[in-house]
Amino acid sequence: MAYKIDPAKCIACHTCMGACPVMAISVGPDGKCVIDPAKCISCGTCAAICPVAAIAPDAK
Ligand code: SF4
Ligand code: SF4
Repeated sequence: MAYKIDPAKCIACHTCMGACPVMAISVGPDGKCVIDPAKCISCGTCAAICPVAAIAPDAK
């Protein structure tokens, strides 16, 4: 399981990037952040810090 960013909610503030302990978050081609599910350890830090609640556990 990994966390996922909803691009419809993300405002591209990039706050989550600096908060991830394993650097699983990068900036995508549209400027919004994306999480690499292969690196994410599902700690939840990014979800807690996102100002618009755009990050949640991926249901898949
Ligand atoms: S903290 Fe939230 S709004 Fe900001 S870049 Fe990350 S997902 Fe997007
Ligand atoms: S849940 Fe934790 S490990 Fe996964 S992207 Fe967010 S901060 Fe990084």
